[in-house]
Amino acid sequence: MSLTGAYDPANIFAKILRGEIPAAKVWEDENILAFMDVFPQSEGHVLVIHKTSTARNLLEISPEHLAQLTAAVQRTARAVRKALSPEGFSVMQFNGEAGGQTVFHLHFHVIPRWSDRALKGHGHAPMADAETLKALAARIAAALD
Ligand code: AMP
Repeated sequence: MSLTGAYDPANIFAKILRGEIPAAKVWEDENILAFMDVFPQSEGHVLVIHKTSTARNLLEISPEHLAQLTAAVQRTARAVRKALSPEGFSVMQFNGEAGGQTVFHLHFHVIPRWSDRALKGHGHAPMADAETLKALAARIAAALD
């Protein structure tokens, strides 16, 4: 998938938003959904998406929706920090297949980091157990402001 083209409503995040496939949800409101990445690059890897925007990448989203999304990324990162006490965190966002993107519904990754734990590869991490993700989601949700 290049940077041009149409939004595909069959993408996996659209399915999660429609409730067609499960996700370990951290929090949501009328605009935003934050949920655990099933192939986490580190413990506590959360994805943050806009619910109504059909932007596939950063180029397509309106400034208003982007403002809501980035505020949601910050809110999520603050909760991740409070819940898991990482030494740092990475916010990642990939655009187009050549840019490393694999799901074409715009999203931000919030990835907690510890200096003594190697980051697992993007797209190469093993699948996490659903119960483990649910428990992590609940811990992060409990730390939300
Ligand atoms: P990107 O490669 O930036 O498009 O990120 C897509 C992310 O979605 C990857 O980190 C995948 O591990 C993650 N992912 C793929 N399928 C699912 C799913 N069903 N639930 C949660 N995360 C997913």
